[in-house]
Amino acid sequence: MPEADFLSLSSRFVLGPEGRHRLRVSQSLLALVAYVLFALCQQIEVRFGLIEARASWWLSAFYLGGAVLFFIAIRSGWSARLADPSMTLAQSAFGLLAVAGAYGITGPARGALLTIPVLILMFSMFRLNRRQVGGLALAALLLFAAVMGWQVVHEPARHDPRVELVHLVFAVIVFGGMWVLSDRLARLRARLTRKRTDLSEAFERIRQLATRDDLTGLPNRRALMDSLVNETARQARLGQPIALVAIDLDHFKAINDEHGHKAGDAVLRGFAERALTELRGPDVLARWGGEEFLLLLPDTTVTQALSCVQRLRERLVLTPFDEVQPGLRVTFSAGVTRCLGGGDIDAAIERADRAMYRAKAAGRDRVERA
Ligand code: GH3
Ligand code: MG
Ligand code: MG
Repeated sequence: MPEADFLSLSSRFVLGPEGRHRLRVSQSLLALVAYVLFALCQQIEVRFGLIEARASWWLSAFYLGGAVLFFIAIRSGWSARLADPSMTLAQSAFGLLAVAGAYGITGPARGALLTIPVLILMFSMFRLNRRQVGGLALAALLLFAAVMGWQVVHEPARHDPRVELVHLVFAVIVFGGMWVLSDRLARLRARLTRKRTDLSEAFERIRQLATRDDLTGLPNRRALMDSLVNETARQARLGQPIALVAIDLDHFKAINDEHGHKAGDAVLRGFAERALTELRGPDVLARWGGEEFLLLLPDTTVTQALSCVQRLRERLVLTPFDEVQPGLRVTFSAGVTRCLGGGDIDAAIERADRAMYRAKAAGRDRVERA
């Protein structure tokens, strides 16, 4: 088996499949490795005679056992049922408890242990909110203060109250600093989230502007060409017909002249609204330009397209444009053709257009097939 395959297989075995779950598992595995390193350091201190061996074994068994349990809970997927499947708060609190315990049994070198909670708090900042990080920092401080106080009272010979006091003051400063830092990080994260939302909204707006006609809200010429390319490719695979219809409103200039340009705009919008209610989901009605529209009908024969156009015409007869001018009737002329596939797109548009002009020449308010 090639080395890369073996590596990816074994990492899949330890961490599970790719994704968010794997990230959580790898984090808890990282914590487990840190605990093992910590236990080794503790063992060296035992060798140096700085820590009592029995107490060290008990403590190591406690935190290594805990870390293994966290790993199993996350790797098995059990933690997925929790509000926080990464168990960050629980893991951080457990880590702080273990360090406070270590502080209790470590002799003169215990001051170095004050750096560990900093590491734990730093990791927790990425997942927890500022209140949770503040709570952890405060809990760590109280834990350390309790351990220090207990030792000053019970083992005054080994624990100089002045040294403990200095440690406590440093702990207040550093843990407090961590809390301030978590607050900054939370603000930064909130700002980044806001920026990301703004950016995706702006992107959506640009997409709309690039593909939609402002006046009617219909897809524009560019969007229709994209749909045509996609649809012809799809329909060619399925062997289904595509119909194209060129539509041009009749005597539209007269509407503008008689009722004003605004009324003309309202007619264009009204036509789009009425037509859409008669079309199916996959049909695409686009504003081709001015008072011209192009209709793409997937999975439709020319005969079916003709009856669809007939439906549109009847719809316009039934609903005059009262919103523009009471009783205002609008008609259109249309040309229908079959689009034979990718290479035929431009030619099909031409054919539909020519058929539409034939309908105009034949007296308007009618449909012609190419
Ligand atoms: P025909 O029946 O032969 O199609 O006659 P028509 O008057 O509809 O055709 P013509 O091409 O002469 O006029 C089209 C008019 O559409 C001219 C133009 O001012 C108007 N027009 C184009 N775009 C818009 C628009 O966005 N809003 C408005 N209100 N009018 C528009
Ligand atoms: Mg025209
Ligand atoms: Mg016209």
